[in-house]
Amino acid sequence: MGSPIGRLVRVPFGSSVKIGVVIDVVAASDQPADKLKDAALIDDLPALPADWLALCAFCARYYHYPLGQVTTFALPPLLRRGKKPRIPKAKAPAVLPAPTFATATPDQSAAIETIAQAKGFQPFLLHGVTGSGKTEVYLRAIASVLARGGQALMLVPEIALTPQLEGRVSARFPGAQIVSAHSGVADAARARAFLAAQEGRADIVLGTRLSVFMPMPRLQLIVVDEEHDASFKQQEGLRYSARDVAIFRAKQRDIPIVLGSATPSFESFYHASSARYRRLDLPLRAVAVAMPTVATVDTRKQKLQDGLSAELIEAISERLRRGEQSLIFLNRRGYAPVLACPACGWISHCRRCAANLVLHLADRRLRCHHCGLEMAVPHACPDCGNLDLQPFGRGTQRLEEKLIELFPSARILRIDRDSANSPKKWHELLATIHAGAADILVGTQMLAKGHDFPMLTLVGVVGADAALFAADFRAPERLFSQLMQVGGRSGRAALPGEVLLQTEYPQHPLYRALIEHDYSAFAHAQLAERNVAGFPPFAFQALLRAEAPELVKALAFLTTAVEAAQNLVAAEILIYDPVPMRLARLKNRERAQLLVESRNRPALQNFLAQWMARLYGLKAPRELRWHLDVDPLEF
Ligand code: ADP
Ligand code: ZN
Ligand code: ZN
Repeated sequence: MGSPIGRLVRVPFGSSVKIGVVIDVVAASDQPADKLKDAALIDDLPALPADWLALCAFCARYYHYPLGQVTTFALPPLLRRGKKPRIPKAKAPAVLPAPTFATATPDQSAAIETIAQAKGFQPFLLHGVTGSGKTEVYLRAIASVLARGGQALMLVPEIALTPQLEGRVSARFPGAQIVSAHSGVADAARARAFLAAQEGRADIVLGTRLSVFMPMPRLQLIVVDEEHDASFKQQEGLRYSARDVAIFRAKQRDIPIVLGSATPSFESFYHASSARYRRLDLPLRAVAVAMPTVATVDTRKQKLQDGLSAELIEAISERLRRGEQSLIFLNRRGYAPVLACPACGWISHCRRCAANLVLHLADRRLRCHHCGLEMAVPHACPDCGNLDLQPFGRGTQRLEEKLIELFPSARILRIDRDSANSPKKWHELLATIHAGAADILVGTQMLAKGHDFPMLTLVGVVGADAALFAADFRAPERLFSQLMQVGGRSGRAALPGEVLLQTEYPQHPLYRALIEHDYSAFAHAQLAERNVAGFPPFAFQALLRAEAPELVKALAFLTTAVEAAQNLVAAEILIYDPVPMRLARLKNRERAQLLVESRNRPALQNFLAQWMARLYGLKAPRELRWHLDVDPLEF
């Protein structure tokens, strides 16, 4: 019998039976023999490979999360329950026409060549403007891996984007076995994909963050597309960053990894400037299309029509005359962020969260965007009975209403999480846009990502200023990247594009950098500021968060945690005071957090390990929950 390490087992546990993974075998135990239980090997499932177990162990160590829970999380739900999916008989591969593709541009060739020559572990940052042909570079790098008999793993941020990419990948590799893994894949299919990857039958694994845990014996290349995207970080349970875990995995397997983006995270950009990563640049669009011209519209000097400037309205009219599409970007869904009573000062407040209820006029509801609480729009003020309640501020629905009024004959399409609330609706909306059956699109960041709209030649940006002054040190990075991505939607085909940014701060460096298309200058300036302030990537952070029905309890727990750290504190560790979170109440639970920081990652890790051992030993009050978030993205 071979080693049982990595095998799934059934173990009696109290009155029930649990599924476990054998992680080690020891000759003797310090437990009395009658306390030991027999574990039964689950016969029809193959052993998980050693590098997969090591990957889970790394995540458990680095994120200070129990190994058992990491392993459970990394397995598809069916295997977690010890069940084997039915494997359908292999279909004969469809006979597809051989793919045709354009010759690579010189920049693409150089990037492909460099990746092909990589020996062992080598992270690359593929920095290419939207439409520069990054996907083409990934596909060619994958092609050479497949030709050598290897497997490739490609991570993408959004489920919404995977079907589009799946189509492109399978058209390119008609003979290859491609499996996808994301939360939208049904249990049986997910388990089948996992086994196909593990048994080496799958050549390409394509998926969202969770696919970083697919076992792949012949893995030779990892690609992380849109590597800056925040959705690579899981915000609950095992709070891992799939991009960072992918880097670990490439190192573990001694293989190259390509991180690609038009707007790399400043962390990755920093590593690429400091020789930890190698930078590959695609500064030009693949097909000879100029980058869109970007200009600001100074909104201090005019009276806006419901948030729209005369310049933007004129630019939209011009597109209508020419039969081209416009996109108005406003990253706030709903009709208005709050409903208020001018007579008594009542505002629509969520009773469960420290947040306002957003007015949705399309279905006449007030909704909390944090907890989902909703109610009908009241006919009169609940406090004073005033009948004249007023919406304040502006969301996509209100903008849509105004555009309908201004352009009654135009076909206007709103795209946000309300209008595209299912994959089916989302596809219908995309199809409508592609068919040219819409003239004006109003939408949130849903529209910013990875879609080619050939008829789109104008992008108007409304209401972006608020994000310039957000407290989060990553806010400028996010705004810049979002605006660059949404601007990149325009002028992708034969028609040149134009981006109009409405702002009261036309001289702001962020907008100046967008006008110049100068990501690097902005990134360098921001990195210099972060260096002075001691923010990542110049420091490493962890957040301890606690939540309880009362804020004092959450804060008290964090204070105890600070005390528990006292004689552990190394010189290089900075522990801040416990503070309420920015959204201090969510679903009737009060939330507080405590930041721990160090310029030295091993010192921080060492500290966290000892500290967590103590915290797990503390008796936290009932009703209190806490967790640690290593490398947090949200504060
Ligand atoms: P990115 O991923 O950087 O946004 P894509 O790989 O999607 O860019 O390429 C953008 C467009 O340019 C696509 O329509 C693609 O087919 C096309 N394209 C990419 N590389 C080339 C090339 N070398 N020659 C011609 N067209 C190309
Ligand atoms: Zn009132
Ligand atoms: Zn709420």
